[in-house]
Amino acid sequence: MSSKKESEKKKCWGDSSFHDDPKMILKRLKDGNKRFVTNNLERPNQSTQRRACTANNGQRPYVIVLSCADSRVPPELIFDTGIADIFVVRVAGNIANTSSIASIEFAVAVLGCQFILVLGHEGCGAVATAIKGGEAPSESLRHLLEEIKPAVKKCKCGNGIDEKKKKKKWKTLKDECKNEALSAEDTNAGCLTKVTIENAHHAAKQLVKKSNILKEAAASTDIAKKLTIHTGFYHLASGKVDFDIKSGCN
Ligand SMILES: [Zn+2]
Repeated sequence: MSSKKESEKKKCWGDSSFHDDPKMILKRLKDGNKRFVTNNLERPNQSTQRRACTANNGQRPYVIVLSCADSRVPPELIFDTGIADIFVVRVAGNIANTSSIASIEFAVAVLGCQFILVLGHEGCGAVATAIKGGEAPSESLRHLLEEIKPAVKKCKCGNGIDEKKKKKKWKTLKDECKNEALSAEDTNAGCLTKVTIENAHHAAKQLVKKSNILKEAAASTDIAKKLTIHTGFYHLASGKVDFDIKSGCN
């Protein structure tokens, strides 16, 4: 690559010296989230110039966020970021399946991103549905809920662990999904929050377990290439993200 092209890229992407420093990346995420919570937004990197220069020079995101598809949890907004700052992979329940893993592998192996945040959230309908159990009406939904079930089992929550209730047939997808609230027995134990946090930890582990690319990156002794994985839990009303908290499920 010519030095002119190299300097163009540097100018476009700005300071990328913190990209191989997980502490600095975490701080940047926390600072951005604080601005979002307190309504002191900077809205960085959203200019015409940023669009044009990343179109010409490609992308160099500093974090990968594996987040739920829930429309109340937009990662770019809750961390007050802009174009080409974060590589977002969204799927209901923020699960680590073949498609989400493949997308993340690209960001790690091709774009050189070394930091993953698996982000669960308050009131997650996908997790609530997995806790409620029952027989899903489509193969795709069955697949999605299967990925969340290990967290349900670990937290010993809801119908997902009750073999009899598990056989209950869903009426319709709309009926099962319209009410995200859980029964009293589930909410009393704080099941939805516990399972959601556990599910983020489970997905984080699955990324490394299912992908040799991510496993090797996580085990790298080269600080410039080493992959770091964190988890987060997003609060819908306050907008706050708690990082790396424990689920309490053993
Ligand atoms: Zn969700």
